[in-house]
Amino acid sequence: MKNILVIGGAGYIGSHMCKHLATNGYQPVVLDNLICGHREAVKWGPFIEGSMADKYLLEKIFSKYEIKGVMHFAAFCYVGESITEPGKYYRNNVAAPISLLEVMVKKNISNFIFSSSCATYGEPLEIPITEKHPQNPISPYGRSKLMMEQILNDFFNAYGIKYISLRYFNAAGADPDGELGEDHMPETHLIPLVFQTAMGLIKEIKIFGDDYPTKDGTCIRDYIHIDDLAQAHLIALERLLDGQSRGIYNLGNGAGYSVKEVIDMARNITGKCVPYRIVDKRVGDPAVLIGSSQKAVEELGWRPHFPDLHTIIETAWKWHKSHPKGYE
Ligand code: UDP
Repeated sequence: MKNILVIGGAGYIGSHMCKHLATNGYQPVVLDNLICGHREAVKWGPFIEGSMADKYLLEKIFSKYEIKGVMHFAAFCYVGESITEPGKYYRNNVAAPISLLEVMVKKNISNFIFSSSCATYGEPLEIPITEKHPQNPISPYGRSKLMMEQILNDFFNAYGIKYISLRYFNAAGADPDGELGEDHMPETHLIPLVFQTAMGLIKEIKIFGDDYPTKDGTCIRDYIHIDDLAQAHLIALERLLDGQSRGIYNLGNGAGYSVKEVIDMARNITGKCVPYRIVDKRVGDPAVLIGSSQKAVEELGWRPHFPDLHTIIETAWKWHKSHPKGYE
């Protein structure tokens, strides 16, 4: 069995990745500090509680398990918080993975899959956004992701650590079997908050601005199903294992939905009322973010299985309605 170290494997994207790895014959070895992750979401392999900044711990893990590749899902991800607490973001999202890369060099481990972000592009100059779009991030979060892409390139040049960076658009949806879902504390993401409103756990959803230059005035985003993200990661990993040296790919659906369209679709699927109120715009929210994933489709042979928003929201609802308070 091939061991893959999944850092942040107890989190939303990491836990779905672990299930996908296990289904495809790999053993995920999870390292997670449980600051954002959930112990209950780790079900498919060994679990080690700790930080990727702990070089001693990492050396022990690399000595104990024959690790064929490393996937990193353990970044902090709140754009707003990164603006008010930049040090927290640079320490966790940049300094900690440097420690990890140094131990990988020491232990002669290659093959790194990095969760990058469309936030590295900043305000889009053209839609859809391709990988060639200039990268001018407008938040410490986006900058931390861009820095890591550059650092990975430097580690490739210096030590030959092979890597693929995957720039996600809006990860959404949940495991179609209903075993895993999205549970952040605090929750800031649109779809989980819409469900909390539908279940009466919060009074109303706040829409951040309705005078954007879009069809209904609310922001447009490109939602991509979590299992399609996991599938792309596995293909990327296998490309590295087969000899590809590095790569950068967008992962989105190439279709955009407005905040109001998401709320309407959730109303239809849940059959519940979702009251909303328009509030001020959120700092750093571009009007439209839609990605072109043509490169991933052409070069990796990636084919999203759940591209439509209906399925994305339906799978998410399946988990939320059976876990109204998230993992407990
Ligand atoms: N959004 C909103 N109200 C909320 C949360 C999000 O109107 O309570 C909007 C947000 O402005 C963005 C979209 O929903 O246009 C998706 O936001 P989310 O935080 O889920 O992901 P992001 O695009 O920030 O990665």
